[in-house]
Formats: sequence, structure tokens, C-alpha cells
Amino acid sequence: MKAPTKIEHIGIAVKNLTEAISYYENILGLKCYAIEEVADQKVKTAFFMVGETKIELLEATSDDSPVAKFIAKKGEGLHHIAFAVNGLNNILSELESKGVQLIDKQPRKGAEDMNIAFLNPKSTFGVLTELCEK
Ligand code: ZN
Repeated sequence: MKAPTKIEHIGIAVKNLTEAISYYENILGLKCYAIEEVADQKVKTAFFMVGETKIELLEATSDDSPVAKFIAKKGEGLHHIAFAVNGLNNILSELESKGVQLIDKQPRKGAEDMNIAFLNPKSTFGVLTELCEK
């Protein structure tokens, strides 16, 4: 596939968004520039800019949210890495033809109005991988 252009963001699963935001702002000195609920994924997100890359904090809004399940299984922490790509539709077809397991066969809307798709960690050496396009 055409190589990703950058790490768009790093997703971190947290139990309590307010407490996590406080750490990122008051300890790390970053500024939360957006809080957004993504109903589709049953999460509330908070974004921080670190140079070219963002940190996306994720709090589950429901017990059946994928993030709630993640935390129940593995605890808080690194949840996914998101690469910025161009031509997401074509990339997904290409990856599928190469045998990569896709969680999303078609792009869907993520936070910040981006088109996103997740790849199954079984195909990515254990890292939940998000591809996103503006
Ligand atoms: Zn993400």
C-alpha cells in the first residue's frame, strides 16, 4: 500500500476522562483542544496536539462499548495507533486482497469528521491499527 504519511494519533483508553485530561494538562502541560462524543463507537474522546501527532483519550459511554471491553480485559492504557493515509477505500481493498483482516471493510466516520477504518490486531502483530483520512 501507499505508505502512511504520519502517525495521526495515538489512542489511549481511560476509565475517567476528566481525571485523565487533568493529568495531560496539569502534569504534562498539554492543552485539550476538543472533547467529542462518537456515538457510533460509544466513546467520549479528548484530543491533545503534540507536535504533528495527537493523543486521543477514550472513555467508554456504555458498558458494551469496545473501549469498556478493552479496559475490562486489559486495563487502561495504549488502545490503538492511527496512521494518516491517502486513498483509504483503495487501501482497504488492497489490504483485504493481501489477507489482512479488517474490522471495517468500508470507511466510517470517526472523531474530527475523519474517515476511519480499523484493522484487526490479529493481522497487525497485536496492535489495533486505525487508518484515517481527512
Ligand atoms: Zn483513533
